[in-house]
Amino acid sequence: MKPDISGIIEGIKRLTPKKRVRIMEVCGTHTVAIAKSGIKDILPEEIKLVSGPGCPVCVTPQEYIDRAIWLSKQKDIIITTFGDLMRVPGTEESLSSAKAEGADIRVLYSPAGAVEIARENPSKTVVFLAVGFETTIPTITGTLEIAIREKIKNLFILCAHKIVPPALEVLASSEDLMIDGFILPGHVSAVIGIRPYEFLSRIHRKACAISGFEPYQILEAIFLILRQISGNQFRIANPYNSTVDYEGNTKAQKSISRFFIPSDSVWRGIGNIPSSGLALREEFSYFDIGTRISFPDIQSREPKGCRCGDVLKGIIEPSECPLFGKVCTYENPVGACMVSSEGSCAAYYRYRKKL
Ligand code: SF4
Repeated sequence: MKPDISGIIEGIKRLTPKKRVRIMEVCGTHTVAIAKSGIKDILPEEIKLVSGPGCPVCVTPQEYIDRAIWLSKQKDIIITTFGDLMRVPGTEESLSSAKAEGADIRVLYSPAGAVEIARENPSKTVVFLAVGFETTIPTITGTLEIAIREKIKNLFILCAHKIVPPALEVLASSEDLMIDGFILPGHVSAVIGIRPYEFLSRIHRKACAISGFEPYQILEAIFLILRQISGNQFRIANPYNSTVDYEGNTKAQKSISRFFIPSDSVWRGIGNIPSSGLALREEFSYFDIGTRISFPDIQSREPKGCRCGDVLKGIIEPSECPLFGKVCTYENPVGACMVSSEGSCAAYYRYRKKL
């Protein structure tokens, strides 16, 4: 059935209160869809959409990038990674420039490709840069399962996986951010289900809706959030129920918890968040490159003037960063939020005429 977009927009206008409502789209894919479709142009001015920390490359801290670059320069190491990480500026350089200088860094479309590279290069140490949220993690665990089955001993990961709900807890608890509602990511929710978000409505009284990635789905989520606010009744609305159910993908969840346990994790711009990351379980710790190689003490620094941290927390819009569009462009990015295709700064820059 064709969605009634004008009906949804009318509903949004009807439910918009006189005061400012701040709604955070948590996911980078939503940020891109909002920027591309020009959704902000049609919303009443009282509704302020702010971007959140839902771009995996953007929230990966500088220390991690620097470690990966350092690793790439060690003898007999092959680094394998998704392409988005290549251009993220480290303290001194990027993976891309390290590759140009001769480091063996290979871009993959799927982590399973790392198994093939390890199989073909038995004398080399192959490291996969394991970043990403709940959506990506099952593809990593699937890769580790193949490595176990095939008795591949030279495949390791540098792990910086992150899980979304603990970061939402930090954002929902912040009095400074004053977020009234969250548009929750459909793909992460398909894995974790609805239950892990319930604290947002129950404890923090935030209006929430899980959304797909079509503009009408995002508008529908905004409508459902406003309806909760106007009725002063908060819950996790799930209009995306063709893909997301209450329990989520239990098979994927089992695969994740077979290999990983929650651990503290540093998010760029937010800092350390308890239990917001994953560490390999003791029995699989041999996959951790840190058990094979000792890292030196690397002094990491954020790019001077870059305000990715404030962008990721929704404190400022990308265009409020003094470097936006002048020093920092999509072609010559200064910070991670301008590099990643899901980064807020990149979305604002590429589709800025619509904002
Ligand atoms: S515009 Fe560039 S420098 Fe500014 S916050 Fe975004 S990525 Fe960082």
